[in-house]
Amino acid sequence: MLIMRNYIFCAIILTVTLSTVLADEHWHYPTPGSNGVIDEAEHWGGKCDTGKRQSPVDLTYEASVKGAYAPFSFRNYVNPIRKAKITNTGHSIQINNNDNNVLIVGGGLPGTYVLDQLHFHWGSEHTIQAIRYGLELHIVHHDTRFANIQEASNIHNGIAVLGILFHVSAHPNPDLEIILNSAEPIKGNVSGQAPLVEKVSPYRLLPNDTTTYFRYDGSLTTPGCGEAVIWTVFTHSLPISLDQVERFKTIKTEDGHELLVNFRSLQPLNARALVYVTPGEDPVDNSAIKSSAISFTILMIVSAIFQHFLL
Ligand SMILES: [Zn+2]
Repeated sequence: MLIMRNYIFCAIILTVTLSTVLADEHWHYPTPGSNGVIDEAEHWGGKCDTGKRQSPVDLTYEASVKGAYAPFSFRNYVNPIRKAKITNTGHSIQINNNDNNVLIVGGGLPGTYVLDQLHFHWGSEHTIQAIRYGLELHIVHHDTRFANIQEASNIHNGIAVLGILFHVSAHPNPDLEIILNSAEPIKGNVSGQAPLVEKVSPYRLLPNDTTTYFRYDGSLTTPGCGEAVIWTVFTHSLPISLDQVERFKTIKTEDGHELLVNFRSLQPLNARALVYVTPGEDPVDNSAIKSSAISFTILMIVSAIFQHFLL
């Protein structure tokens, strides 16, 4: 009887595990209607449906509070990604990084984060003041306290993602051109890999100004939507040509359809703080300077009163 019970227990565990794995692999983005609008919800299950700290969100100045953090430090970001290959995941195109020395620190992050991978969403997942951009790059990192991103993916602050927005421009983006050309052989081949045709360094994909951004605590934007992500979305965007946007749309899914869009719908902010970080404020605690300024002001008032009575 005990053995039987153990068998049933194992069978249940196996079924649950398999269905989780299958759910993770076989999810899809809703297809836009002929008017270009998506009116179907994702229904990805689990945390994606029940979480209260989900991503992406609309980033608005009205909903945000002012922040000031130390500058970001991008360590070894200028180095080209070593032995870089591009993969068609069926949900995006992705470049993995295997160099543990490519790190970000600062920018108000609570630790040191190592670069895992870069992938793209067309159009952007985050919007700024309800405006959607042509493309959003996600540079995904995990806290070096964890062995890998899987371990970090359900721990608060375990993952740090940089979101870089691309606005449609008359000028093609040369770095995106390398990535799109590299993806050409694998665009119809899910799980297929191809080497990058030229070198790409993550630094080239950052905006010139990395001091102005939105910061909030959110989630992965794909199943299982783990609420582990410290989000940084820079407000300064990079250019992409309309032709390049159209080329991203020719990447194919596992059922052979073109992946016309791969952004998740906007999620409610709920009770979360949305921080708008701009330079011009001393990120170092300046309360000491302030208290000495107040003392000086009081001294001036007192001396003015004395002078008044003496005259
Ligand atoms: Zn993403």
